[in-house]
Amino acid sequence: MELKRFFVDKSNLIGDTITITDVEHNHLANVLRLKVGSSVIVVVGDGYDYQCEIVDISKKSSTLRVISKSQNIYDPQVRVTFYQGILKGDHMPLVVQKLNELGISRIVPMTSKYTVALGGKNLVSKLQATSNQSVKQCRRSTPLVVDDIMDIKDIVKEFDSYDAVILCYERENATTMQSVISSVKKPQNIAVIIGPEGGFDESEVDILVDSGAVSVSMGKRILRAETAAIAMASAVMYSVGEWDI
Ligand code: SAH
Repeated sequence: MELKRFFVDKSNLIGDTITITDVEHNHLANVLRLKVGSSVIVVVGDGYDYQCEIVDISKKSSTLRVISKSQNIYDPQVRVTFYQGILKGDHMPLVVQKLNELGISRIVPMTSKYTVALGGKNLVSKLQATSNQSVKQCRRSTPLVVDDIMDIKDIVKEFDSYDAVILCYERENATTMQSVISSVKKPQNIAVIIGPEGGFDESEVDILVDSGAVSVSMGKRILRAETAAIAMASAVMYSVGEWDI
C-alpha cells in the first residue's frame, strides 16, 4: 500500500527526528488513526522524501524517526512562475491548488487597473497554506511558493530572469503559446501572466510587451481567468515535457 504523506516545515526536522504538530498531527492521529510503528513519508520542502517510523503519538504532537532519505522524483524540472491578477471569492485558492498539482513553482498575486478584488487580509499566507496542503496529494516535496503581491508595473523588473515571458491576452489574435515555447531551446525558467476578471488595459499590455513579454492567444473563446490559469499551466507543462513519464 502507498505510504501516507505529510508535509511539515523544515525546522521540525532535527537530526533524525521529525515532530508533527497542528493539522498534520491531527490528520495523522485522529483522521488516519495511524499507530506507533507505522511507516509514513514526510516532506519538508528540501527536495527529499523522508521515510519515517512513528515512534510516539501524544495529544498535541507525533514523533517520527527517519529511516531513510531519497531524492523526491515528483518535483518539476522546469521552473514556471505565474503572475495572476487577483481574483474574487474562492478563485485564488482554486488556482493555487490546481497550479500546485500541475507543478508550477511560484505564483505572484498581481494588482492591475481592472483588478477588483484585493484578496482580503493575509491573502498570501492563506494561499501558502492552501499550497502546502495540496503538496501531499501530488507528491511534490517543494510546494508552489506564493509570493508577495506585486503591481503589474513592477513585475517587469523580474523579466530578465526568464527564458520566456508569456502574456495571455484576451485580444491577441496572431501569436500562439506554442510558437513562444518552441523558440526557447531548453526552457528552464518561464513566466506566465494572466489577467484578472476584467482583463488587461491596452497600456498595461504595451508596458509588458515593451519589457519582453510575448502576447499570446488561448484561442477564439474568452475563458474565465481561473480557467485560463489552469488551462495555461497545463499547456505550458505539457509543452516543456513535464508530462513525460
Ligand atoms: N473581461 C475580459 C476578459 C478577461 S478574461 C473581456 O471580456 O475581454 C481574464 C484573463 O484570462 C485575461 O486577462 C487573459 O489573461 C486570460 N484569457 C482568457 N481568455 C483568453 C484568450 N482567449 N486568450 C488569451 N488569454 C485569455
